[in-house]
Amino acid sequence: MTAASAPPFRIAVVGAGPAGFYLAERLLARADVDVDLFDRLSAPYGLVRYGVAPDHEKIRNVTRVFDRTAANPRFRFFGDVEIGRHVPLADLRQWYDQVAFTTGAQTDRRMGIPGEDLGGSHTATEFVAWYNGHPDYHDRVFDLSAERVVIIGVGNVAVDVARILCRTPEELATTDIADHALAALRQARVREVVMLGRRGPAQAAFTNAEVKELGELPAADVRVVPAEVALDPLSRAAIDAEEDAATRKKIEILEGFARRPPAGKARLLTIRFLVSPVALNDDGAGRVRGVRVARSRLEAAADGSLRAVPTGDQEDIPAGLVFRSVGYRGVAIAGLPFDERGGTVPNRGGRVVDPGTGAPLAGLYVAGWIKRGPSGVIGTNKPDAAETADAMLADLAAGGGGRAAPAAQVRERVRAVQRECVDWADWLRLQAIEVERGRAQGRPRVKCVSVGEMRAALGAG
Ligand code: NAP
Repeated sequence: MTAASAPPFRIAVVGAGPAGFYLAERLLARADVDVDLFDRLSAPYGLVRYGVAPDHEKIRNVTRVFDRTAANPRFRFFGDVEIGRHVPLADLRQWYDQVAFTTGAQTDRRMGIPGEDLGGSHTATEFVAWYNGHPDYHDRVFDLSAERVVIIGVGNVAVDVARILCRTPEELATTDIADHALAALRQARVREVVMLGRRGPAQAAFTNAEVKELGELPAADVRVVPAEVALDPLSRAAIDAEEDAATRKKIEILEGFARRPPAGKARLLTIRFLVSPVALNDDGAGRVRGVRVARSRLEAAADGSLRAVPTGDQEDIPAGLVFRSVGYRGVAIAGLPFDERGGTVPNRGGRVVDPGTGAPLAGLYVAGWIKRGPSGVIGTNKPDAAETADAMLADLAAGGGGRAAPAAQVRERVRAVQRECVDWADWLRLQAIEVERGRAQGRPRVKCVSVGEMRAALGAG
């Protein structure tokens, strides 16, 4: 069957973040494939819109690549449509030849220590979603009257949170940070931010460009404890054995921070290592008053990795606000198997499999963080999605498709259950409104931050 004579294969992709767009792009390269991309939010782009920090606007330029995919006449967007709520997975499976989930990792890992849920203890991802104007988080409240904030974890999300807290309102005012966040940060009394790494500097999850940027903040001195960045013999041996130039560079950057005298800037950012949180301390009224940490040393585990073991010394670090930034976690999808340990959908190369037998579940696929776990940068999703797309196209070629419902009928069925659903033309109008609002203030855009505001803007536009 040639592409021209073949009936179009119709594929649903659920989740309009980077993995969803990269998957759609690869699938649409085949002329006989149509893609419908669903998202539970009105706006597309997932973490590119709601995760990337506002002072990293350049990273958001990747949406231009996604927009090119969306301009393909065989692409449709269904925003504000939640699979499992508006449309059951069973219907989707009937309507399409294949269904792929690119729903990311929508919740957070827990640390499992006392005090995690005290008032004033939040996940970093809540804060990130709040300052980025995510409609589910725009009305969150954080007590920014605290002078010292502790961030648990030393990954790139922790770095983003630290940077936003250490920037001045003037620095943030030219970004697309949500207006409510800018207003709250203008009133903030935060003077000291402390990031806590449970292992050593060589194991820190942040990448070099991100940690280097912490040393360049106009209004914050960066400080590390010299003894905590001194490389231990196990880490040194691991770096040498792997000729790990990136980690060597990371250590150099941190040693540079250790040598640097404070410049007397208004804020102080301290990065600690070898301190494992053991509890969040209660002020007696249900609010956090600090973090108890166990000073730690590194020990080789059976698998060769280096893990933190307590030395026996503990320390209390006072703080009025705590952000837990210990990684994201995937959420189970009704109707699909789920690996509770990894927070992912069991799959082989993107084909969803029965965890008992290992057999593929026909027509079901995953890509991105729900497939491999929350690791890597935006670009990592491109090869990841390509692997899934190639498996999907191979399955179509093997005869697994060509029975989908007509596109017009699907649109009618979706509109029947969700009249408010947003299509790509709606999104382009909304985007133009946001950019126009931003232009007046010298900002890339001023985001609509609630579903109501988006609908009102579209209605008025
Ligand atoms: P991450 O890179 O996995 O970092 C999680 C951090 O939490 C690690 O330092 C980890 O330490 C620590 N941690 C985990 N469990 C802990 C516990 N029980 N107690 C104390 N610390 C604990 O996760 P992330 O920062 O959420 O980032 C997710 C992904 O998004 C990453 O791939 C990241 O690079 C990416 N991202 C990239 C950018 C960017 O490119 N600018 C920005 C944001 C996010 P251990 O190593 O000891 O487990």
